[in-house]
Amino acid sequence: MTALLSLSAVTKRFGGIAAVSDVTFDVERAEILGLIGPNGAGKTTLLNCVSGVYRLDAGKVSLDGAEISGKPAFQIARLGLGRTFQVVKPFSSMTVRQNTATGAMFGRRGHRTHPKQAMEVADEVLAEVGLARRADNLVTSLTISERKRLEVARALAMRPTLLLLDEVMAGLNHTEVDEALEVIRAVNATGVTIVLIEHVMRVVVGVCHRAVVLHQGKVLAEGKTSDVLEDDRVIEAYLGERYAKAHPRG
Ligand code: ATP
Repeated sequence: MTALLSLSAVTKRFGGIAAVSDVTFDVERAEILGLIGPNGAGKTTLLNCVSGVYRLDAGKVSLDGAEISGKPAFQIARLGLGRTFQVVKPFSSMTVRQNTATGAMFGRRGHRTHPKQAMEVADEVLAEVGLARRADNLVTSLTISERKRLEVARALAMRPTLLLLDEVMAGLNHTEVDEALEVIRAVNATGVTIVLIEHVMRVVVGVCHRAVVLHQGKVLAEGKTSDVLEDDRVIEAYLGERYAKAHPRG
């Protein structure tokens, strides 16, 4: 069976600099894949290439066997790709439910979704991410952690087969991270494939089946999460000696 998402020699340059260079890997159905690496490694640029925010300079991206590179973002969303953004930008004059419903209107079945149905989808996904009791509140009243959940809810309302999460744990405290991990596991258990960018190693270890490490725009390592985090090159380029000492190898 073909992989759900397939990246082949994906390259994106800004001016003369390759932010993403010759990146090739697959994401299998129903897995959670962690995309990790130092600041500026090209992780967000890569998600932007996959979701149609950027045009590739070279290479190819396929979703479910069909090429999506070159298509506009809204078409890729309709094909089943939902994503969050690192900088959360909700519509501030709208309620949590209305914000979430916008996802349903632009998602996989968006063109066939009536606003009333979109509100129903919103209520379902708000329950899934634990925000149901805030549905009627304006988004301006949400905490940072709740805004991150809203961002996930909006992407989930698109009913994606593939969900891309860009640092949804940033700024959350220990308990909030644990709660968010539960949400991610529950979403994955419904069959949604997830790619997440994350700097918090507890999250990567806690939910990612596999990890891809980007370094200077290139794939440095790829494989089972525990193997990748023990890779000497990954420790040297990203995790550092402190991590290695805190997690001695058996
Ligand atoms: P972080 O973990 O800090 O979010 P990242 O791995 O997501 O980093 P990117 O934001 O993808 O890294 O950036 C990769 C490289 O591309 C960096 O050198 C960055 O300065 C550059 N870059 C990213 N976006 C643009 C842009 N729109 N124009 C020019 N250069 C850019």
